Amino acid sequence: MPNMSLKKVPMPAQEPHIRNQNFDEVALGYTPEMAIEEATRCLNCKHRPCVSGCPVQVNIPDFIQLIIKRDFEGAYQCIRETNLLPAICGRVCPQENQCEAKCVRGIKGEPVAIGRLERFVADYHLAKGEERVEKPESNGIKVAVIGSGPSGLSCAYDLAKLGYEVTIFEAFHSPGGVLIYGIPEFRLPKRIVEHEINNLLKLGVSIQTNMVIGKVLTIDELMEMGYKAVYVATGAGTPNFLNIPGESLIGVYSANEYLTRINLMKAYNPQYDTPIRQGKNIAVIGGGNVAMDAARCAKRLGAENVYIIYRRGEEEMPARLEEIHHAKEEGIIFKLLTNPVKIHGNEKNEVKAIECVTMELGEPDASGRRRPIPVPDSNHLIEVDTVIVAIGTSPNPLIRKTTKGIETDKWGCIVVDEKMATTRPGVYAGGDAVTGSATVILAMGAGKIAAKSIHEYLTNQLS
Ligand SMILES: Cc1cc2nc3c(=O)[nH]c(=O)nc-3n(C[C@H](O)[C@H](O)[C@H](O)COP(=O)(O)OP(=O)(O)OC[C@H]3O[C@@H](n4cnc5c(N)ncnc54)[C@H](O)[C@@H]3O)c2cc1C
Repeated sequence: MPNMSLKKVPMPAQEPHIRNQNFDEVALGYTPEMAIEEATRCLNCKHRPCVSGCPVQVNIPDFIQLIIKRDFEGAYQCIRETNLLPAICGRVCPQENQCEAKCVRGIKGEPVAIGRLERFVADYHLAKGEERVEKPESNGIKVAVIGSGPSGLSCAYDLAKLGYEVTIFEAFHSPGGVLIYGIPEFRLPKRIVEHEINNLLKLGVSIQTNMVIGKVLTIDELMEMGYKAVYVATGAGTPNFLNIPGESLIGVYSANEYLTRINLMKAYNPQYDTPIRQGKNIAVIGGGNVAMDAARCAKRLGAENVYIIYRRGEEEMPARLEEIHHAKEEGIIFKLLTNPVKIHGNEKNEVKAIECVTMELGEPDASGRRRPIPVPDSNHLIEVDTVIVAIGTSPNPLIRKTTKGIETDKWGCIVVDEKMATTRPGVYAGGDAVTGSATVILAMGAGKIAAKSIHEYLTNQLS
């Protein structure tokens, strides 16, 4: 008999007043008993709607049934058939819009906690320690992957399994992309990403860091060096700004810079000398995951008041529900229907306040969300000493500018067909570099498709 509880088994977590002062992981994970109890809420539906909600079609009902049988390792292997990074996806995937949105149990009550169960089996597997990874026999064919975020990693993994000699070229000094430099430790511990990267190295993939392709080497040069195909997975790391007066004042950060200093360069750790502004009153502009991450980091660094300033309402916020919930619990102040129009500075050119107008919602716009409209004469000041702009990012133009024959659209995203092939033969692209800022699982899915297409292409070319 299924467990007919309408609610998910709650996830143990650090208390909000404690966790908002440390960078340790917030959610603590299920015990085996909790996981089994939650797994028994699954109805094991014949038509498996949850699977259709997963961008990489994880065999969800099967792995849940294995949990019920206490075969946790079997459950992990079942997920790994289609998902390279279960410990990461179990933590950061927006399940509420994907698999869990399709779960039949969600019609009356809460859906099965698929993400928490995925995380549980992945953590069970990780706790077993060192993994044996067989290095496949090399076919001698060299493929270059540019960028070591989830898209580049998953493409490299699939190609290495097929015997290709894969080299990942990464601009930063550490591999992992946003998983390392963007998403904070308290949501995604870095040891998990490092573990997955080590497995990739064991498969024979080589990672060259501090290699900005387009500056140190171009794609043409890589091809001259014998790389027979290239996968461009350079993400969308160039921050967008508001273009309002005062954005060049001291104390204005892009969320990317702020989070990179904290995560990649460990500014929160006194053993590192990375400078970061320890603001007292901080405004974070935006309503996505990046804004929530920046706000929660600011609080942990000791800010007294952290404001999320967002021009629409909470319903329109693109951030994951869990992140909004956690941010509120941690004391972040939400100023909704509020739009910044100017940043004011003091005589030293440092931020001293942000001027905003109140908004109201009109008819839906092209994005389907209700359009925010300024309320006349509603200008007001909020006193802050730091402003973090988290209103989205775009792909970096470097690859586009240094590679002939690669078409991009008006947003600078690389244009690809359904096989992830760009307009230049032998060059494939995927992840945020193609879609603009999206999700980890979509970036991984694109990497998998590209690996399959590169294999087909090279098999035809070289036969
Ligand atoms: C703060 C933050 C929080 C997020 N939270 C979530 C979340 O909770 N859930 C979720 O699903 N998604 C989240 N996302 C989005 C998600 O992380 C991205 O969609 C995903 O990482 C995209 O993967 P990618 O591999 O395409 O690119 P990235 O992860 O951006 O990796 C691209 C890599 O390419 C490197 N690179 C760029 N240019 C070059 C070059 N010229 N030469 C060599 N290397 C280069 C970069 O340094 C980087 O390492 C978040 C994003 C951010 C910024």
